[in-house]
Amino acid sequence: MRFLAPIFLFSVVAASAQNGKESFILARSAGKLTMLSYGLGEDRLGGAKLGYIDTSVLLKIADSTKDMYKVQLSKGHQVYINKNDVRKDTNSIQHSFYLTNSFTVKGDQSYDYVNISLDEKLPYKSWMEINPSKILLEIYGVQCNTNWITQLKSVKEIKDVYFNQVEDDVVRITIELKHKQHWGYSLNYKNNVLSLRIRRQLPSLKVGNLLVAIDAGHGGSNLGATGTTTISQEKNYTLRYANELEQYLKQKGASVIMTRTSDTNINNVDRVLLLQAAMPDLLISLHFNSSSNANVKGASTYYKHIGFRPLTTALLNRLLQLDISEFGNVGNFNFTLNAPTDFPNSLVEIAFLSNSDDEKKILDPRFQNAVAKKIYKGIKDWLKTVRE
Ligand SMILES: [Zn+2]
Repeated sequence: MRFLAPIFLFSVVAASAQNGKESFILARSAGKLTMLSYGLGEDRLGGAKLGYIDTSVLLKIADSTKDMYKVQLSKGHQVYINKNDVRKDTNSIQHSFYLTNSFTVKGDQSYDYVNISLDEKLPYKSWMEINPSKILLEIYGVQCNTNWITQLKSVKEIKDVYFNQVEDDVVRITIELKHKQHWGYSLNYKNNVLSLRIRRQLPSLKVGNLLVAIDAGHGGSNLGATGTTTISQEKNYTLRYANELEQYLKQKGASVIMTRTSDTNINNVDRVLLLQAAMPDLLISLHFNSSSNANVKGASTYYKHIGFRPLTTALLNRLLQLDISEFGNVGNFNFTLNAPTDFPNSLVEIAFLSNSDDEKKILDPRFQNAVAKKIYKGIKDWLKTVRE
């Protein structure tokens, strides 16, 4: 774990006192999958992430560190963004304010949509809430001028949509959902319309009707953890367990997509892009854990978004029926494949390669098969709770 002291190399803010309006260097998001970070804190998997934004979003750069820009989202909100994910925009002129315009709430064959028309592609943040299930969306640097929310009967998952101007320059939109299970949502700009696309609950909640994505962690030059008594590499075992799970789920009638099927190094951002294009009904990412303490062992499952927690607890409960100890269910986890809001997802750290008891099990093909069965049962249990 390493914490970087915030060393600001230069200040780019040129405050003009005359009109009380601060001017910033304008830029646009330009990364493949641009992530906003809360701050400069770091841990094993990078700093805490606020969420992805689409490309070409207008960003006001307030300051700079070695690798990150500080972005002023609104008067009271700042975030950090990797410099590689930003292109300076010398063509746009900073306006003193931007407005929200009309909203449209509608459905098509597959999804529900909330389309929010804006003056500019402005930065935003979203999150899930549960009991009751909602999606919250905040748009920054904007004033409300919405007097018109058209709502069409074609929606199937959206119950209600309303907004509040929660700060002078922040508008918060609440989307109440009909089902308690979150099935995911995606946010993209189409011109200056911010489109929230919401996934509907599946009509048939059976494993055999699912499209399951299985992600075998690591691969190629990315070896992952190594065994403690053998030289077993995590990348080989994630693929074996993924293949076993694929076969088992297919036997049960499910469709399966794999992020990798051979010993190749695909980075996690490319895996997310592949998955967002394929839109599985759920994602299971398989890894084996490792600790500097050889006594640490057990199974664990991980989520970032609270709406996806039920899948992760159902999987862990079934894995714990194997002769394995509980390492735990971990929330707010900072792993790239837990970051998508588009589909329910769970990271499964089956056991610890750094613990000799766990390692023995991991290497045993019978355990491999038992894990596949338990994951299948976990998915089944989860679907059962969704139906209730
Ligand atoms: Zn791993």
